[in-house]
Amino acid sequence: MPHPIAWVPAERARHASTDPVSQRGRREYPEGQRVSTLCGRAVEACEGELAWLWWTCPTCDDRAREIVGAPPRPEVGGRA
Ligand SMILES: [Zn+2]
Repeated sequence: MPHPIAWVPAERARHASTDPVSQRGRREYPEGQRVSTLCGRAVEACEGELAWLWWTCPTCDDRAREIVGAPPRPEVGGRA
C-alpha cells in the first residue's frame, strides 16, 4: 500500500497531511484548498516555487515518519 501522506506548503512551512489529494496522480493540493495537517491544524494550501523552500514542520515530519515507519530525522536538534 502506498503511504497516504502528502506534503502541503502553507503558512510559511511545509506540513504533511493524510487528506486525499483531489487530482489523480498528484501528491500536492491545489492552491487554496483547506487541508488538515498531521500537527492538528487546518491550513490553506499554497503553491509555487518559494513555498518549497519553507522549513519543514517538525511535528508533521515526526508524524509522517511514524506513519510510514521511517527512522527519525538524524539532524534533529541542530536548529533553534
Ligand atoms: Zn505541521
